[in-house]
Amino acid sequence: MTEEFKIFYGGTILTMDEKEKVEAVAVRGDQIICAGSLEACDKAVSGQRVEKIDLDGRCLMPGFIDPHAHLMMLGMCHTWIDLSYPKVKSIDDIVAELSKFKDTLKDGGMIRGFGFDQRNLAEKRYPTADDLDRVTTEFPVQIMHVSGHSNVVNHHFLEQLGIDEHTEDPEGGTIGRGENGVPNGQLYDSANDFFAKKSGVVIGNNGPNIHMPDTPDNLLTLVKVGQEQCIQAGVTTINDPQVTKQELETFEASKKNGLLKMRIVMSFLSTYLDKLIELGFRSGFGDDQLSIGSIKFYADGSLNAGTAYLSSGYADSSRTQGYLYHSPEEFQEMFVKAHNQGFQTITHAQGDGAIQLVIDSAREAQKQTPGKDMRHRIEHCGLPARNQIDDIAELDLWPVPQPQHTYQFVEGVIRAVGDYGKNYGPYGWFKEKNIPIVLSSDAPVAPPHPILAVYAAVTRETLQGNVVGEEHRISLTEALKGYTIEAAKAIHKEDSIGSIEEGKLADFVVLEKSPYEVEVSELKNISVSETWISGEKVYVNEDVQEGVVSK
Ligand SMILES: [Zn+2]
Repeated sequence: MTEEFKIFYGGTILTMDEKEKVEAVAVRGDQIICAGSLEACDKAVSGQRVEKIDLDGRCLMPGFIDPHAHLMMLGMCHTWIDLSYPKVKSIDDIVAELSKFKDTLKDGGMIRGFGFDQRNLAEKRYPTADDLDRVTTEFPVQIMHVSGHSNVVNHHFLEQLGIDEHTEDPEGGTIGRGENGVPNGQLYDSANDFFAKKSGVVIGNNGPNIHMPDTPDNLLTLVKVGQEQCIQAGVTTINDPQVTKQELETFEASKKNGLLKMRIVMSFLSTYLDKLIELGFRSGFGDDQLSIGSIKFYADGSLNAGTAYLSSGYADSSRTQGYLYHSPEEFQEMFVKAHNQGFQTITHAQGDGAIQLVIDSAREAQKQTPGKDMRHRIEHCGLPARNQIDDIAELDLWPVPQPQHTYQFVEGVIRAVGDYGKNYGPYGWFKEKNIPIVLSSDAPVAPPHPILAVYAAVTRETLQGNVVGEEHRISLTEALKGYTIEAAKAIHKEDSIGSIEEGKLADFVVLEKSPYEVEVSELKNISVSETWISGEKVYVNEDVQEGVVSK
């Protein structure tokens, strides 16, 4: 790291600490050495050769921190065929999109698409193997649901995976079946482990298997493509919430060969809990760029795929209650073990039934080993029951919802669970009880674009153009902090990142203008102009006029 000195000035500088705004920021190498008046910054670098960066009216903020983003899966969805709504509106559209690529197939090839959402398909049903057979019967075809929790394959692929009418449903998952129990190509939750059985990472009932086998080179490409998406949106740190051997090896390789620029905090899937304990790893191991954050548990399935565990069941009766990945006893045992061993935990829990598992387990964990600042998290925390909010506050649990999921899916959720669904992502209730407000994307389920998430959280607007659950709106300041300093706390990194303060790392995003200077309706149109990590400029948006640089 070179010991270069820089001063940023000439625009709005939002610090996200109690200072709120400063006139200038001085940086030495990768570190902020002063945040205050221009005079104070000049003094801090006196006698040095300094690069002065005129923001020219733009807005400098701490780099955004996304505490729940699947980097390689994000890369995957940009390299697989895009099946997202509104590009794809029907099963016929899916078949047409996939078919465009069938003439390029060679031996060993396959067709893979990402991002369909059955609730946004004209037919209002899941595609089946029969549908995908219309693309080809000679090569494997696979499409992944936008949630990552389910896949559909054609009959050719079903056969390759060794799935037939005699194959039993695995624990924590389902093989979709037609009449007479014959598999229909749909694989839900832990049934996705079939993709990894021959070569790949087998994870059992610890989560939906999103770790699709691929060559090391292709895996590196996923990091590259995913990272580009994040950096262009001003994201400088992510917490990858589902790390296996495949992600660890690829992140390590990309760090070694210089590809990795952003910071990654890794949450290892619970598959690895015993191994990590045995080896002596704990939360916090690693360095500023790549470190172990927490253990990831899955309590239930996806609200959007209709597999989240709701005590009331689904109003549209597509599935009974959803389901749990582990029995409550097994879940609690793992959770308490992780806590007692000093691991922060993050649990995927959408439905109130699943959230209750986390509450019960956290209570037991606190009883056994009290007083630790663990910040155990509830990922998504989509539909807690009203009375669970008190428990979440009392046990110091940190919900990590995704405002863009509310934007994209809330109307489908209301159709699936009834009027209560308007509370999807209930920030208003969290505020009442002083529960931390943290934002994230769950990319690639939603784009890793903090500005869009901030807009969604402040407005509670939906994709269909309505406003749902106004009581859960948060303020602009709460939203921006939720993607910076509060997100840093959610990953135990608030000492080094998340605000512009002396001693912290020089990670910044430069926005075209301050979010406070525009009408709420214009928020989502604010462009990212530059992204800086460790005092180095890693992204410039040529469409936004650059500041004047003088030496
Ligand atoms: Zn996720």
